[in-house]
Amino acid sequence: MAVIRDVMAGFQLFQPTSVGDAQKLLEQHGSDALVLAGGLDSFDWLKDRIKKPKAVVDLSGIDELRGIRTTADGIEIGSMTTLTEVVQHPVIQEKYAVLAQAAELVASPQIRNQGTLGGNISQDARCWYYRAGWPCYRASGNICYADTPVGRNREHAILHADRCVAVNPSDTAPALISLDAKCVVHTPNGEQVVDAEDYFLGPDIDITRMNILRPGHLLTTIRIPSTWANAEFYFEKVRDRNVWDFPLMNVASALKTSGDTIQSIRIAINAAAARPLRLKAVEDFARGKPRNSETGEMSGKIATQGAIPLQFNAYKIPLMRNLVKRAISGVPEAKWA
Ligand SMILES: Cc1cc2nc3c(=O)[nH]c(=O)nc-3n(C[C@H](O)[C@H](O)[C@H](O)COP(=O)(O)OP(=O)(O)OC[C@H]3O[C@@H](n4cnc5c(N)ncnc54)[C@H](O)[C@@H]3O)c2cc1C
Ligand code: SF4
Repeated sequence: MAVIRDVMAGFQLFQPTSVGDAQKLLEQHGSDALVLAGGLDSFDWLKDRIKKPKAVVDLSGIDELRGIRTTADGIEIGSMTTLTEVVQHPVIQEKYAVLAQAAELVASPQIRNQGTLGGNISQDARCWYYRAGWPCYRASGNICYADTPVGRNREHAILHADRCVAVNPSDTAPALISLDAKCVVHTPNGEQVVDAEDYFLGPDIDITRMNILRPGHLLTTIRIPSTWANAEFYFEKVRDRNVWDFPLMNVASALKTSGDTIQSIRIAINAAAARPLRLKAVEDFARGKPRNSETGEMSGKIATQGAIPLQFNAYKIPLMRNLVKRAISGVPEAKWA
């Protein structure tokens, strides 16, 4: 838990009602501003007195950032659309069910009613030390408190660590990557559209950010193309408790098969590294193979190549291997094998 040191720092609260006004405020206040979506992550930082922005730009009054629209090639989801709306939307349930399944497993109903899709994929690293305000690498210090023989690192990374071993805990992120979603970001230089897998950053690129957003940037929309509509989906999340809990790891996949043969596939995993990982080597291996437990077994082995456990998270290697195996084989009987 964070140490409460003083009263909550004051800030100017702005409540724009259009994207244009929000953009102007964010540009004007630059790194002094904090974007507020549902507040489930943001309020923790403010109440724990760890982040002390001078300005808070609340997006809740911007109607154009809400809602789910069908387009000529799929759907568009406004970044301020709640997770509950994502779960309950008939088109998402019917065609992009992996996203509905992932969103439905986030936290609790109350959190899903308030938390937004944009906020869920933009949430900060979930590491006890960092969130308690310890001056670690991610907080611009020169030590990692989690990566020590006695550090609390049971939930931390087994892949692609670089000084920081924290993970990205979003449940919806791997589902969006499996659907080949795009993130639309408004920047002072115009609109930027990036593949969901490129929205996230590892510590090797920038240890202080979890995603590509910079001061002045606003995530407006998540686009899902129709390419993977009605594919064979798999989502599984493993957590300590089956309610209210972050993933120890999760996996999302979309497959198209012909007979037993996997014709095309996208698969992503989260909470294994600081960013959700698209498992391209697994995709390359599984394409053209039968969808069975042998292919799943080998896929799990490929996925975990190079994994390095910390003191208390070695269990994540077999966990990841089995999640990938089950996502590929899709055989219910194999679920707990
Ligand atoms: C008790 C608890 C349990 C949880 N369990 C889970 C879980 O099991 N799985 C899971 O995936 N998540 C879980 N979460 C995380 C929660 O789902 C996210 O914190 C939440 O979705 C964040 O969404 P929000 O709308 O509240 O965003 P906020 O907290 O308001 O914002 C999160 C971050 O994103 C930035 N941001 C948000 N929207 C935008 C935008 N449009 N443009 C630019 N920046 C933006 C904010 O500045 C902030 O840095 C849990 C949270 C809590 C408190
Ligand atoms: S894992 Fe990352 S966030 Fe946690 S203490 Fe280490 S550097 Fe900081």
